[in-house]
Amino acid sequence: MLIHHAFAFVIQVNSNYLKLKAGYLFPEIARRVQAFSQNHPQTDLIRLGIGDVTEPLPLACRDAMKKAIDEMGTVSGFHGYGPEQGYRWLREAIAQSDYEGRGCEVSADEIFISDGSKCDSSNILDILGEGNRIAVTDPVYPVYVDSNVMAGRTGKSADSKRYEGLYYLSINAANNFQVQIPEYPLDLIYLCFPNNPTGAVATKEELESWVAYARKNDALILFDAAYESFIQDSSLPHSIYEIDGARDCAIEFRSFSKNAGFTGTRCAFTVIPKNIKGKALNNEKIDLWSLWNRRQSTKFNGVSYIVQRGAEAVYSSAGKMQVKALVGFYMKNAQIIREYLSKAGFSVYGGKHAPYVWIKTPDKMSSWDFFDFLLEQANIVGTPGSGFGFSGEGYFRLSAFNSRANVEKAMQRIGNL
Ligand SMILES: *Cc1c(COP(=O)(O)O)cnc(C)c1O
Repeated sequence: MLIHHAFAFVIQVNSNYLKLKAGYLFPEIARRVQAFSQNHPQTDLIRLGIGDVTEPLPLACRDAMKKAIDEMGTVSGFHGYGPEQGYRWLREAIAQSDYEGRGCEVSADEIFISDGSKCDSSNILDILGEGNRIAVTDPVYPVYVDSNVMAGRTGKSADSKRYEGLYYLSINAANNFQVQIPEYPLDLIYLCFPNNPTGAVATKEELESWVAYARKNDALILFDAAYESFIQDSSLPHSIYEIDGARDCAIEFRSFSKNAGFTGTRCAFTVIPKNIKGKALNNEKIDLWSLWNRRQSTKFNGVSYIVQRGAEAVYSSAGKMQVKALVGFYMKNAQIIREYLSKAGFSVYGGKHAPYVWIKTPDKMSSWDFFDFLLEQANIVGTPGSGFGFSGEGYFRLSAFNSRANVEKAMQRIGNL
């Protein structure tokens, strides 16, 4: 006979989730926008907030995916489960175009295809132990912070601004949005260049200093290069592996989301050089490649054949031209935003090698006050800098992902304020 206790079926939850800050950025934006729209139903809002692309998928990618669908409709061309690491032809195209072509030593074997850098940059914690000293920039892409909170690698957010147990490296106008190399040792450092949200970019010298630091301190750099295709100056590095020695100390995340408009199609990849090592509890040296390979083989079943064919087409000559045009289109938007806002008297940063323009709020307004002001007075939705971290307070992010007409209209409205 079953005995029913009052609490018999109350299971344990992951209490780390309860440490996450309640007022998460994008839901709060959505809440305020919805409240405004309800009171002003006729208003034509322009959304320069969330970093999602707006232009259609490149033709080369669509053609490749259509062809792949037709193959899937034949017995000989049907594909079931693919390799968990991704198809060889895509990994080779990436190794050749993104790495060999830029003088980087990365083999196809070291490239793991996935359905997104958001997942990869979170999942990487699966293969990393407790007790690492972890650093993020401030402001930062919130995924790096929240994934550490969920995995129990932080304490609480005492002042609801910063989590205990995480190291924050401020990037702001005073340090020219360059991450200052700390004097103390760290184990894991998340770097994102070109940067979301500030639009800042790292020079070769800066990355060289980081690689030297990581090698000296046996640290691991988690390098997010989701926006590398937006770099306009040929002297700037697109990959951390353009730096000598990075193969010993850096993992790189790349995505087709922003360059080829794959935010809704889903394809990305992570590079783990075979020589990177960590240590086990007994101090034995273990290579991270093997752990990630094991992790992916167990918990992931690959990206669809059709989507990988679409991603492969990014590297065809037509694909390269179409992606270049897409990126050029958004970068023209960024230039328009930069020029308009500079003329209107704002302090404007970023937007030269990234689709984000980072501005200082006028008259020392808080980020959220400026959000409300722009929403109410110009009917423009942006992103409050403080949502990306403590040091983002007093800043505001505008995204260049929109139609030309909307960008121009938005800038006229700001000009008319
Ligand atoms: C958009 C973005 C990505 C890409 O994430 P996907 O999951 O591949 O779409 C990665 N990192 C940053 C900082 C981003 O802004």
